Amino acid sequence: MERKQQPDTIAAIATPPGRGGIGVVRVSGPALAEFAERLSGKKPQARRAVLTTFKTDDGQAIDQGIQLYFPAPHSFTGEDVLELQGHGGPVVMQLLLQRCIELGARLAEPGEFSRRAFLNDKLDLAQAEAVADLIEASTAAAARSALRSLSGAFSREIDVLQKGLIELRMLIEATLDFPDEEVDVLRDTDAVQRLQKLRTEVAGLCDRAQQGSLLRNGLHVVIAGQPNVGKSSLLNRLAGFERAIVTDVAGTTRDALHETIQIEGIPLHVVDTAGLRESEDVVERIGIERSWREIERADLILQVVDARHGITVDDAALAARFPAALPQLVVENKCDLTGKAAASRTEGGLTHLRLSAKTGEGVDLLRRELLRVAGWHEHGEDVVLARVRHLDALAEVAKRLDTASAQLSGIEFCAEELRLAQAALSRITGEFLADDLLGEIFSRFCIGK
Ligand code: GDP
Ligand code: ZN
Repeated sequence: MERKQQPDTIAAIATPPGRGGIGVVRVSGPALAEFAERLSGKKPQARRAVLTTFKTDDGQAIDQGIQLYFPAPHSFTGEDVLELQGHGGPVVMQLLLQRCIELGARLAEPGEFSRRAFLNDKLDLAQAEAVADLIEASTAAAARSALRSLSGAFSREIDVLQKGLIELRMLIEATLDFPDEEVDVLRDTDAVQRLQKLRTEVAGLCDRAQQGSLLRNGLHVVIAGQPNVGKSSLLNRLAGFERAIVTDVAGTTRDALHETIQIEGIPLHVVDTAGLRESEDVVERIGIERSWREIERADLILQVVDARHGITVDDAALAARFPAALPQLVVENKCDLTGKAAASRTEGGLTHLRLSAKTGEGVDLLRRELLRVAGWHEHGEDVVLARVRHLDALAEVAKRLDTASAQLSGIEFCAEELRLAQAALSRITGEFLADDLLGEIFSRFCIGK
C-alpha cells in the first residue's frame, strides 16, 4: 500500500503561469523545518508569515518574500508544508523551484498535493475532486456547489446512506443464520421499509447529482441558420449581462465562434455556425467542416430562421442534414418586423419560438425552453456538483437496491446485492479504491494542486 511508504518531499509552482504581483511555490514533505532554514537562513515559525530572503547555497539572493510554515499534521496535505511567496515572475518562480529541488524536493506530479491530503485523511476523494472543481468552475453557481462538496456536504450524505445500508445488511445477514425463519424475520424487522427508504434517498441524490453534472459540464448548443437571420444577435442577447467568466481550463476550445454564456448558473457552450453553406473557399470549408463536427457533439440545435419568411427551402435543406436523434428548437427571429407578438408553439413535434433578438421580446421563453431541454429544474443550494464517476456509482447503487428488493425471497442474493451496493457507494468517497484508479483520478488535476 502506498500509505506505508515513506513519502518524499515534493514541490511545485502553485500559482498560474505568467506574471503577477505574487507567485507561490508550495512544498510538502515529512520534515521541512531544516529545509526552510537552509532556504532562507531563518528558523521557520509555525503558521507565521516571515519576511525573508530566499538564497542559493552560496548565499546569493534569489528573491525576497514571505515564508509560511505549516507543520504536520495541521496543513493541507497533513505533512509539513511550506508556502514560499515570491514575486510572481516566471524566472523568479523557476529559480525558487529549482532551489527547492536542490534542497532535496522533487517536482510534484499533477494533483499530488491533493492526493497526499487524501492519503492522510485530510480530505476524502469527493472532497479532493471538489478542490479541482472549485478551481475549474465556470459559473458562480458551480463554484458554490463545489465549495459545498469541499466542506463535506456531499460526503456526509454518502455517509448517511452508507450507515443505512450497513444497518440493513446486518438485519438481512442475520436472517441467513436462520434459514427456516427467513420470511418471519424479514416480516418482523422493518427490512423492507428500510430498503424502500434507502432507494428513495438514492433516487433523490441521483437527481441532484445529475443537476450538478449539468452545472459542472453545461449544455452544448449549436446555433445554426442561414446568414443574416440573426444568429449572432441572438447569441449576444442570450449572453446579456450574464456572459460567463472565461476560463483557462485545458480543453475548452476558444475561437471566434465559441462562447460560454450562462442561464441561471448553467454554463451554455454555444457555437455559432456562421452560415453552414457549401463553399469553394478552402478556409471557409474548413470552418464549415468543423461546424458539422460541433453539431455531432451537441446536446441541442437551435435553428434560427427569419420570422418573415418562415422555414425556407434552404432552411429545410439545412435541417435535413442535422442528426435525427438530436433535440432541436426552431427560433423564428425578427418577430418585431412581422407585427406578431412573441410566442411558442409545437409543430410537427418541434418547438417553434417566435421572438426578437433585437428588442429582446420572447428571449425569456427561449431561456426557459433551453433549461427545460437541458433537464434543469429548480433547486435550492443542495445540488451536488457531480462527476461522471459519481453518477455511475450512484446509478449502480440504485440498480443494486432494485435487484435486492426484487429478490427478498432469495435472501442470499439480496444480501449479495446489498454488499455490492455498499461497495459502489464507498467508491465515491474513495474508501477501498484501487491505487491505479486513484492515480488516474488525481493525474487529471493540475500541477501544484
Ligand atoms: P447572423 O448572420 O445570422 O449572425 O445575423 P446577425 O446577428 O449578424 O444579424 C443580421 C442582421 O439582422 C443585423 O443587421 C441585425 O441587426 C439584424 N437583426 C438581428 N435580429 C433582429 C431582430 O430580431 N429584429 C430585427 N429587426 N433585426 C434583427
Ligand atoms: Zn453571425
